Amino acid sequence: MRIAICEIGRRMYDKSLVAATDGNISVRTDGNVLITPSGVCKGDLTPDMILKVGLNGELRGGNGLPSSEMKLHLRVYTSAPQFKAVIHAHPPYATAFAVAGATFSPLSYPTSYAVLGEIPLARYAVASTDELASSIEPFVTAGKQAILMENHGAVTCGESVRDAYYLMERLEAHAKIDYLAKHLGGARELTEEEKKRFLKLDAHNDTPVSHHRLTADY
Ligand SMILES: [Zn+2]
Repeated sequence: MRIAICEIGRRMYDKSLVAATDGNISVRTDGNVLITPSGVCKGDLTPDMILKVGLNGELRGGNGLPSSEMKLHLRVYTSAPQFKAVIHAHPPYATAFAVAGATFSPLSYPTSYAVLGEIPLARYAVASTDELASSIEPFVTAGKQAILMENHGAVTCGESVRDAYYLMERLEAHAKIDYLAKHLGGARELTEEEKKRFLKLDAHNDTPVSHHRLTADY
């Protein structure tokens, strides 16, 4: 699990989803949480740097300081126990929307919508505070897995660290496409008929599209 966290950290850094020492990754394992340390570039993580904490934030293993956004991660696990991994990053296009106080049109890019659903924008709160954790809580409690954080960045929650990472990568791809489309005159809205058909059925086998999140290759 520690190796997986380091590998995902490297991907996040290599894909510029974070800069310098920004961003954090955690995985829940029974009553413990493995979490990245504070102040280390996600491209430079090694397994021995990963810390183990309890659900109240008490240090249970490792040396150094846990991520400064630990409260955000722990709030996800205590309010939505179905999630086993959390990633927080500052992907440039998605964060640009969040800094502008905006989110993107959910159905402008249906294949992304099938995986991410509607992307909420959590109200602004100061980094690393309880208020920041509270700002995302209603969304994760409602099962949202990809959330923009106003004037800050994004958080994704998944069934595994890889799942949470793919959500972050897709979120950024969708934000970039939406941004580029805006500069080409704006995204074409689906017609009501197209929306209805898309929301109701998967083209291949008549299953609601939302059931295909983990297997989609649209
Ligand atoms: Zn941040």
